[in-house]
Amino acid sequence: MSSDILVLGAGMVGVGTALALRQRGHAVTLVDRKAPGQETSYGNAGIIQREAVRPYAFPRDWRKLVQVALRRGNDVHYHAAGMPALATRLYRYWSHSAPRAYPGIAAAYAALIAHSLSEHAGWIRQADAEDLVKREGWMQGFRTPALFEQAGREAREAAQAHGLGCDLLDGEALAHRVPALRQRLAGAIHWRDPWAVNDPGELVARYAALFERMGGRLLRGDAASLRRQGAGWAVDTQEGPVQAAHAVLALGPWADAALVRFGYRFPLFVKRGYHRHYAGGATLDMPLLDVEQGVMLAPMRRGLRLTTGAEFAPIDAPPTPVQLAEAERSTRELVDLGQGVEAQPWLGARPCTADMKPVIGAAPRHPGLWFNFGHGHQGFTLGPASGRLVAELIGGETPYVDPRPYSPQRF
Ligand SMILES: Cc1cc2nc3c(=O)[nH]c(=O)nc-3n(C[C@H](O)[C@H](O)[C@H](O)COP(=O)(O)OP(=O)(O)OC[C@H]3O[C@@H](n4cnc5c(N)ncnc54)[C@H](O)[C@@H]3O)c2cc1C
Repeated sequence: MSSDILVLGAGMVGVGTALALRQRGHAVTLVDRKAPGQETSYGNAGIIQREAVRPYAFPRDWRKLVQVALRRGNDVHYHAAGMPALATRLYRYWSHSAPRAYPGIAAAYAALIAHSLSEHAGWIRQADAEDLVKREGWMQGFRTPALFEQAGREAREAAQAHGLGCDLLDGEALAHRVPALRQRLAGAIHWRDPWAVNDPGELVARYAALFERMGGRLLRGDAASLRRQGAGWAVDTQEGPVQAAHAVLALGPWADAALVRFGYRFPLFVKRGYHRHYAGGATLDMPLLDVEQGVMLAPMRRGLRLTTGAEFAPIDAPPTPVQLAEAERSTRELVDLGQGVEAQPWLGARPCTADMKPVIGAAPRHPGLWFNFGHGHQGFTLGPASGRLVAELIGGETPYVDPRPYSPQRF
């Protein structure tokens, strides 16, 4: 079998890429070892984060570092045994988070985030997925007044600089807006622009179904079989080998394993995260982040999904859902949580880069090989926007966003 372009990985990023390429008339084969949207793009908090103009920096405040090192907070956890292998990449992450480096990174990040809603909008409509999406934003809730005041000031500045809608709600206004809250909080920041998806995996599945309706081919196969063939690329699938002139690696947190085979060593790592659904208790009409506990409460079709913050550990290390246990305890103070739906929590891994920007563009030493991975905390948001960018680069179009900040050449 042959195709113009192979896309390896059918998470939000790979499916977004496949759609953008197919829209441009290429013959596209999308290959995954599972059905589309079954991995990280399934288990996230489902927010299309238009407000995420500042990527998550490594903490620079020594008090926060001590808190993390002593495991005193619940937003970050780590496996001590995994740290030596990660040390160099985390040092680079820390350096890129320095005040002199960070503003340029954030500006580049914001340039892509600015297109997140508009690039999703058309696909949501064409994929008949309006029933999954709510356009009322999401909230960051604070327990401590001083933290709320500081975060509120920063939010206002960001909103003004980037033309975002944001309301500050004091404790009383928040209690009125979210009647399910059992406890009076200091207040909340309501970001009005973002959209909340109540079944993120299903949105990816509907996008993939649209891709097939548009004439794209979706196959099961293992990206580990990707190889040079003549002037192009080939991969083995359940339907046999498929050849193409171009191949795009969109393997999310598994990109590193594929890259090593081709001799690339990028500063990639994962921040693992857990979720579990709870049903029979309170319902919320938009996601609410309990900022100080590092817990997102996201209303989903299966119940209230609690998602946890970052766990620094190898992708395949055994699960240690201590953050989720603490999240459940602290959330029961806030709302009637009901009963856990699944026996075991879901575990996934945010695909991160040391400079917080995704890797989008041509492989430096392999003609016809393209990269689109490393979207960290916002891959569900950025899949269609970065899919369009890589599709434009492959087709030789003038890119709609300056691609240089995301170039694989930077490593
Ligand atoms: C707890 C949590 C909450 C989050 N909340 C949000 C949020 O609210 N908003 C947001 O924008 N982002 C959020 N994120 C981040 C977001 O989920 C990820 O950035 C995004 O899903 C990454 O998409 P992806 O397509 O790159 O990776 P994935 O969705 O993981 O897709 C990679 C695909 O590659 C396939 N694959 C891997 N190896 C092979 C192989 N050898 N052969 C064939 N196929 C292979 C996998 O099966 C998978 O389908 C969250 C993440 C977590 C963990």
